[in-house]
Amino acid sequence: MPELPDVETFKRYLDRTSLHQRISGVDVRSAYVLKGIPGSELARRLKGRRFESSRRHGKHLFVRANGDLWLRLHFGMTGSLQYFRHKQQEPKHTRVLFVFANAHCLAFEDQRMFGEIGLLKDVDEFLKKRALGPDALDVDLKEFKDILIKHRGAVKTILLNQKLIAGIGNIYVDEILFRARIHPATQVSALKEKTVAKLFRAACDILKKAIEAKADANLMPKSWLLPHRGKGGRCPRCGRELKSATIGGRTAWFCAHCQKRMS
Ligand SMILES: [Zn+2]
Repeated sequence: MPELPDVETFKRYLDRTSLHQRISGVDVRSAYVLKGIPGSELARRLKGRRFESSRRHGKHLFVRANGDLWLRLHFGMTGSLQYFRHKQQEPKHTRVLFVFANAHCLAFEDQRMFGEIGLLKDVDEFLKKRALGPDALDVDLKEFKDILIKHRGAVKTILLNQKLIAGIGNIYVDEILFRARIHPATQVSALKEKTVAKLFRAACDILKKAIEAKADANLMPKSWLLPHRGKGGRCPRCGRELKSATIGGRTAWFCAHCQKRMS
């Protein structure tokens, strides 16, 4: 499921490939992913414009077209972008295809169709309406502490709440907690100030390094949890078998030895 590092990677890909070219058409293959706009209107409103810049907030990507129109992309569980020239390169699960005047195309592909595409006038208004918290990479230590102090619950559940901090999902939250050596079920009220600071540093570091690795698990350090998570996986730090548990409705992977519960 695409999280902050994945969506940032899509953003950089889109910036590198798809800006400043006239959109000659939009081909909607599955209107299911469109939110609040029919396919014909999406095509009519984008045709002849150019994508000029993009902005990411949490797991959302917003692409500004000239004339102050924003395309909103959310990648759901399996969404991604593919820029290509030749028809045979088109991804199998293309849902919406943006065709450019230079004969290249940008495909929004999404096998399971939990992704979303929409148009907006005002990104900040959208973020406010959705009540999304600040982007995880924009939060400073003071804000991070304030968010944790003001809420109750398991630290994993708090970090996953997009209304408190936007961008962290199930994979990276486990990675961050592993780095900070905090058990995912630890109540935030049991965290000492020093531990909160450690958690904050872990979050910044993991998210930034994951972006550098283009959110590709194969490019992530073997000392991370990600290459080992899953049944039979072993802790890269102590070699013990990793455990899983359901916390806040999500499966957490962790090392019960390295990540002691503090409450
Ligand atoms: Zn361990």
